[in-house]
Amino acid sequence: MTTGLYTHHSSLDHDTSPGHPERIERIATVYATLDGAGFAALRRREAPPASVDELGRVHRGDYVTHTLERIPAAGFSRLDPDTVVSPGSGIAALHAAGAMIAAVDDVVAGNADNAFCAVRPPGHHAEAGRGMGFCLFNNVAVGAMHARHVHGLQRIAIVDFDVHHGNGTQAMFENDPDTLFASTHQYPHYPGTGAAGETGVGNVFNAPLAASSGGAEFRAAMEERILPALRGFAPAIVFVSAGFDAHARDPLASLNFEEADYEWATRKLMEVADEFSGGRLVSTLEGGYDLEALGNSVQAHVGALMSP
Ligand SMILES: [Zn+2]
Repeated sequence: MTTGLYTHHSSLDHDTSPGHPERIERIATVYATLDGAGFAALRRREAPPASVDELGRVHRGDYVTHTLERIPAAGFSRLDPDTVVSPGSGIAALHAAGAMIAAVDDVVAGNADNAFCAVRPPGHHAEAGRGMGFCLFNNVAVGAMHARHVHGLQRIAIVDFDVHHGNGTQAMFENDPDTLFASTHQYPHYPGTGAAGETGVGNVFNAPLAASSGGAEFRAAMEERILPALRGFAPAIVFVSAGFDAHARDPLASLNFEEADYEWATRKLMEVADEFSGGRLVSTLEGGYDLEALGNSVQAHVGALMSP
């Protein structure tokens, strides 16, 4: 397998203020992991910035320009109580979304079989007109709509195994029968959405997990709810919002996944992509706040993507 890796140095410049969990050391840990043994075969590419028009496929009106205008020239400012930005944040956010654009282009062209975008800020909480939960622009949604509008891939699946529900992604697509959104997440928990009864137009599949759930409950949710939904939907491309904060070590939540669970889930999603999508799968980093768990989980996830 050829796996594309999309990064940009601006991810290291998005300073969220001392003590913030979504911190620069996260992406430094991911980069160190993917520079390590076993990852020499990654096809490494620098992520371009997304354009305002590309972001405008999922974000509302003046949200993009308004958000960029709120980036301070010095110090910090807050888009919401959790979402802190500083002078490097706007450029980082543009490249985090642009990584998805480049990854989709390369996977559709066959330059890579699948791809991982190692970027920050994360994206899945960002709604059409509102940034929240450490997220400015909804990276996975930008990639999904690029696949449809530029490459003509109509049926798009987005699977989100971050411990937090991807409220932004769900809100963007819950009325779009050609986009499937499936999520496992701790529930009830931040951001409050993600009940099993939220089904969109029959295209949303939430699998809420009670606090203290572990790999057994995660795998059951995948096997019984999410993988059958994906097979019934037959996507032309599979996207993954890959947050690793459901790991047992993570400080922001109370699920107990292990690295092996992420490797297993990645392989299962690759099987779906092989069956229906020509293998096309594009994953992007969302959360994951314990550095050791994050590094090991990315190792498991990307290692699986690279394996036949
Ligand atoms: Zn999260």
